[in-house]
Amino acid sequence: MIDPHKLRLNDARALLEHGTYALPEFGSDPHAYVQAVIDRLCELSQKDPLTGLANRRYFQNVLSREIEVVARSGEPALLLMLDIDHFKHVNDTYGHPTGDVVLQAVAKTLAKCIRSMDTVARFGGEEFVIILPSCQGHYGHQVAERIRESVSALRVSLPTGISVRVTLSIGGAYAPRWVRSTPELWVDRADLELYRAKSEGRNRVCIEPQPVLSVSAEEKSLLFGPLSLGDPAWIESLANENSVGSSGSAMNRVN
Ligand code: GH3
Ligand code: MG
Ligand code: MG
Repeated sequence: MIDPHKLRLNDARALLEHGTYALPEFGSDPHAYVQAVIDRLCELSQKDPLTGLANRRYFQNVLSREIEVVARSGEPALLLMLDIDHFKHVNDTYGHPTGDVVLQAVAKTLAKCIRSMDTVARFGGEEFVIILPSCQGHYGHQVAERIRESVSALRVSLPTGISVRVTLSIGGAYAPRWVRSTPELWVDRADLELYRAKSEGRNRVCIEPQPVLSVSAEEKSLLFGPLSLGDPAWIESLANENSVGSSGSAMNRVN
């Protein structure tokens, strides 16, 4: 039997009681109490404190899982990277606390634009990321444009009567299908598109074109049959041999 009095829970309780993470009565059911502390700490460790969105740690977990799903199922998934344009200017003009309010308002707008199956997270600073599973090509562009327009229509009202406006640049890339890749490569490709959106003038969406694939049932079973499971290098070599343009067959090649 767990005795919560024998555990060093003070720091954890202080952290949780400070936030919005209500705990059951200390001294009621000890298992329920300790379980609640663990659950709330997990929640806390996955959230960005300023915006309330998921944080980068949570994003990395979802991204790793999603890239596996796409490799096995071939379902298209899109990663969007979003960066507020000239945000330093907002801080310099109105002050850092106003910058924080703008970040919160942008975060809220992003959360409203996505489906419940999507994941939006703060990547860091004034950068956000969105993972969209089961996202067909036309939908990806539409949703990214909708997000861009919603943020550019946003007016953040200050107590002084002034309202602040910002715009977003958005870069996107689809996860490679039927081939093992890494979350880092996926992020790099979306980041390249974001860089393109910035250099082409900001307040715009750039999404890497999705390769057209047709993979036979036999190729799929080769990729994900028992032989391949322990040997990703073998899978990569297969993908390279069969990549579009080299043999006329149709496996995707990563970067
Ligand atoms: P660009 O269009 O090229 O992205 O320009 P930018 O000014 O947005 O980019 P830059 O990287 O020069 O500046 C980002 C700014 O974001 C600088 C930094 O102080 C600010 N910032 C990062 N995190 C926070 C935060 O949590 N709160 C506030 N208020 N500002 C932040
Ligand atoms: Mg930035
Ligand atoms: Mg920026």
